[in-house]
Amino acid sequence: DLRIARIASAIRVIPNFPKPGIMFQDITTLLLDTKAFKDTIDLFVERYKDKNISVVAGIEARGFIFGPPIALAIGAKFVPMRKPNKLPGEVISEEYSLEYGTDKMEMHVGAVEAGERALVIDDLIATGGTLSAAIRLLERVGVEVVECACVIELPELKGRERLGDKPLFVLVNAA
Ligand code: 5GP
Repeated sequence: DLRIARIASAIRVIPNFPKPGIMFQDITTLLLDTKAFKDTIDLFVERYKDKNISVVAGIEARGFIFGPPIALAIGAKFVPMRKPNKLPGEVISEEYSLEYGTDKMEMHVGAVEAGERALVIDDLIATGGTLSAAIRLLERVGVEVVECACVIELPELKGRERLGDKPLFVLVNAA
């Protein structure tokens, strides 16, 4: 697909950010390329439009960029999965491990109902810890996670394995 090549080349790689040794995949340059940004959304919409998905769950912060246009196009609602203490209402939360220590992800109680079908969206999967926390959070309230989707996968980190048998769809593989 020619669109994939354009998307891949619109992603900028910034060495040593946020710390030495990390090659940061910067999607802000993808957002500047109007055609590549539209192609990104279109590819996800083509895949999910006829899958009976009622909720797109976007992970803070860059899942908030890609999730809403997909949700609008497929006729699903958008639910933000946020860092701790950001959501004003009652929340349920799920802890997950980071390289050093732990973090938490939160979702509003009542945002989703048992039996709904969800797509989880983020910009990038590295170790898979973030996506797996989102899956657990949704499954705890009885939501069926149909698939996870990211713009970029870092396959060397084997994050896909951490998702178990949950399908993961990505547009671009990065080193
Ligand atoms: P994981 O939990 O899979 O190890 O890390 C994925 C999370 O970290 C995602 O929410 C993603 O936004 C962020 N992340 C980690 N590395 C990068 C990167 O190189 N570029 C971007 N844009 N996000 C990253």
